[in-house]
Amino acid sequence: MTDTPLYNEVPAQVDLPALEHEVLALWRDSKIFAKSMAQTEGRPEWVFYEGPPTANGMPGAHHIEARVFKDVFPRYKTMKGFHVGRKAGWDCHGLPVELAVEKELGFRGKPDIEAYGVAEFNAKCRASVQRHVDAFTKLTERMGYWVDLSDAYWTMDPAYIESVWWSLKKIFDDGRLSQDHRVAPWCPRCGTGLSDHELAQGYETVVDPSVYVRFPLTSGPLAGNTALLVWTTTPWTLVSNTAVAAHPDVAYVVATDGTERLVVAEPLVASALGEGWTTTGERFTGREMLRWAYRRPFELVDIPDAHFVVNADYVTVEDGTGLVHQSPAFGAEDMQVAREYGLPVVNPVRPDGTFAPEVGLVGGVFFKTADEALTADLDARGLLFRHLAYEHSYPHCWRCHTPLLYYAQPSWYIRTTQVKDELLRENERTTWYPETVKHGRYGDWLNNNIDWALSRTRYWGTPLPIWRCGEEHLTCVGSLAELAELAGRDLTGLDPHRPYIDEVTLTCPQCGGEAHRVPEVIDAWYDSGSMPFAQWGYPHRNVEQFESTYPAQFICEAIDQTRGWFYTLMAIGTLVFDRSSYETVVCLGHILAEDGRKMSKHLGNILDPIELMEANGADAVRWFMAAGGSPWAARRVGHGTIQEVVRKTLLTYWNTVSFQALYARLANWSPSAADPKPADRTLLDRWLLSELNTLVREVDAALDGFDTQRAGRLLAAFVDDLSNWYVRRSRRRCWQGDPAALATLHTAIETVTRLLAPIVPFVTERVWQDLVRPVTPDAPESVHLAAFPEPDEALVDPRLSGR
Ligand SMILES: [Zn+2]
Ligand SMILES: [Zn+2]
Repeated sequence: MTDTPLYNEVPAQVDLPALEHEVLALWRDSKIFAKSMAQTEGRPEWVFYEGPPTANGMPGAHHIEARVFKDVFPRYKTMKGFHVGRKAGWDCHGLPVELAVEKELGFRGKPDIEAYGVAEFNAKCRASVQRHVDAFTKLTERMGYWVDLSDAYWTMDPAYIESVWWSLKKIFDDGRLSQDHRVAPWCPRCGTGLSDHELAQGYETVVDPSVYVRFPLTSGPLAGNTALLVWTTTPWTLVSNTAVAAHPDVAYVVATDGTERLVVAEPLVASALGEGWTTTGERFTGREMLRWAYRRPFELVDIPDAHFVVNADYVTVEDGTGLVHQSPAFGAEDMQVAREYGLPVVNPVRPDGTFAPEVGLVGGVFFKTADEALTADLDARGLLFRHLAYEHSYPHCWRCHTPLLYYAQPSWYIRTTQVKDELLRENERTTWYPETVKHGRYGDWLNNNIDWALSRTRYWGTPLPIWRCGEEHLTCVGSLAELAELAGRDLTGLDPHRPYIDEVTLTCPQCGGEAHRVPEVIDAWYDSGSMPFAQWGYPHRNVEQFESTYPAQFICEAIDQTRGWFYTLMAIGTLVFDRSSYETVVCLGHILAEDGRKMSKHLGNILDPIELMEANGADAVRWFMAAGGSPWAARRVGHGTIQEVVRKTLLTYWNTVSFQALYARLANWSPSAADPKPADRTLLDRWLLSELNTLVREVDAALDGFDTQRAGRLLAAFVDDLSNWYVRRSRRRCWQGDPAALATLHTAIETVTRLLAPIVPFVTERVWQDLVRPVTPDAPESVHLAAFPEPDEALVDPRLSGR
C-alpha cells in the first residue's frame, strides 16, 4: 500500500488571497493560459470581442464586474471544446484622456494646450495612456481575467488608425460621410461638439429658471395693446430671439385680467396665466397670426429682418403658452424654421460658452450664468410675467460635467439615418441578455437614430483622413501608403497623429491644387467600434484572422454601453460590412457602493479593486459578481456583502475538500478500479451521484444561457447539500475509510471543481492540484485544461431526488 498515490495535505483553514498568489505563480510558470489556447487550436471558434477600457484613469471596482463575465464565459466555452481567442485592447484616444492630461498640467482649456504645443500635449496623452494601461494590466492579472495582454490592440497604433481610415473611406465613398452646418450639442469647456450617444450619457438634474415673457405686438389687429406670452427655460437664448413660432392649426386667444391683454394658446390659458384671467372672445389660428411683428425682449445684438410670428408644426400645447421663442443658433428645430423663413442665424455666444464681449449687459458672461442678469433686466422693464424655478434634466458634458449648449457649428456627420432600417434589421438578429433591452432601451435608441456627429475639434484622436483643396474638393485617404502616394513622398515611420499628419499636404487629384487635411479628429467611440477589424489592421494586414472572427458570438459590458460601444460596434459593422459585428450581447447592471449610491470620488465611496481582492480574494469578488444576485440589475458591493457569500459557498466547499483529504489520507485511500461500482453503493451515495449528474446538466444549461446567477444558485445549493447532508451523514463511514463513501465524495468534489472552475478559477485550481492531479494519472495539468463535465444520465434516478 505504500506506493498508493495520495491526495496532498489540505489545511482546514484557507487564506484565499494567499492561495491565489500561489495559483497565479503556477499559471505563470506553467504557461497555463497559453497551453489552453494551444490545446484548442483548430477547434470551432467561439468569437469574443474585448471592449477596450478607456485608459484615462485608474480602474475602479466596477471595472471588475464586466471583466468577470468576460472571463467566465470564455473559460466555460473553452472547457466545452471551443477555441476562444482573447485579444486584449486599450482605448487610447479622446476627451477622457485629454482631460486627464489637462488636469495634470493644470490647464483650463484649449488656449492652454495651443500655447503648450500640440506635439508636446499629445506626447503627454500617450504617456498617460501607458501609465493607466499598466494599472489595468495589474487588475486584469490579479483577478484571473485571461485575456492576451501581450498581443493587445491599442487604438493609437498606426496600424489601427490606418484600419479606421480604411473604414471611413468606405463610408465616405458610399456618400455617407460629409460636413454639415447643424445645431448640435457643444461642450464650451472642451471646445468641441459631441455626438448624440455621448449626449445621452451626460444628463444631470438641474434647477433652471422658467420664465414667461411679454413680447408686445407691433403689427396686426392686436398691435399696440396686446403682447404675445412666451415661455422659456433658457433666458440666455432670448438675447438672440429671432421669431416666435405658433402652430398653424392651434387656436390662440386674447386673455385679460382687466389691466393687460396677452395672447396664449387656447388650451393653455389656465395653466399659463392662472387665476383671475378671462378670455375676451378674440380668437386667431396660428396661420392667421403669421408675420405679426413684435418688439423683441432684448436689443443687445443686431438681428435684421426678423421678429415676427412664424408657423411650425412641431409646436405643441402640452406646456408653456403654445408660442415658442425661436433662437436658430441654439436649436435644431429653430434652425429648420429659420431656413424656411429666410431668417438670419445670429450667434452671440463664443465657442467657450461666453457671450461676445461687445454684447451689452452680459458681454463675457458664461451663457448659463447670464440667466440671472437677463431675467432681472426683463423684470425691471416690465416684460417678465412670471418667474419660477424649474427642475429638469439638462445635458452636461459626460467627461467634464460642464452644461452643454446646442450650438450651430460645422461638423462632420456619418449619415447613420440612411441605414436605420438595416440597423433595425441587425438588431432583430441579435440576442440580448436581458431580453428586454432589445426592443426597450436599445431598440428605442435605434428608432430615434440621428446622424452621428463624428468630428471633434480636439487634439488627441484619430485624425479625420480628409484633405481639402482651395476649390473645396475632398480627398478621403484609406491608408498611409495611399497618403504617401498622393503626397508624393515617403511617409514610412510617420506618426499619424496631430500635429505631424497636419504637415502632410497632397496634390488634389481633381484640380491639382494643394490640399490640406481638415483640422478635426474623430470621436473616440468610432475607434472602439472599429475594433473587430482594426484590432487586426484589416484589410492592410491579417485578412484571414479578421474574416474568421467576424462577427462575434459574444460581447459583454455594462448597460450604459447601449448608447456607447454596443451602438458604435453595430453601426460601423452595418455601415462597412452590412452586418452587425456581434450576435449575442450581455448587458450588466451597474455596481453601486454598499450604501446604495453610485461609486464616485465626490462621495468618497470608491472601492479600490486591488484592495477588495487582497482583502477577500479575487474568487470571492468573482463569485459575488457572477452569482450574488442578478447580473442584469444594479447591485451593491462592499466587503460585507462579499464576505457573506464567501462564507456560504466557497468556505463550505473548502471544508468538504479538507475533510475528504484528511480521511482519505488517513485511510491510505485513493480512487481506483477496486472501489465499489455506483450501483453497489448505499442509497445515500446513489442519491448524491444522481443529484450530481442533474447538477451537471443544469449548470451547463444555465451557463449556456449566460445565466450565472442560476448556475451559482444551483452550485451553492449542491455544495450546501454535500456538506450539511451527505458529509454529515457519512462522517462515520469516512472515518472508517469506507471506499464507497470516499469514492462518492471524490467524484462529487472533482465534478463540482470543474463546474466551478470558470467562475472561481483560483480555489478550483488549488483543489485540482491537491485532490485530482495526484490521484489521477491522466489528469490535465490544470483544471482549466480539463473538459466541462458531461452528465452521466444512467446515474440520474428521479426516484432518489427529493429524499
Ligand atoms: Zn467637456
Ligand atoms: Zn481640388
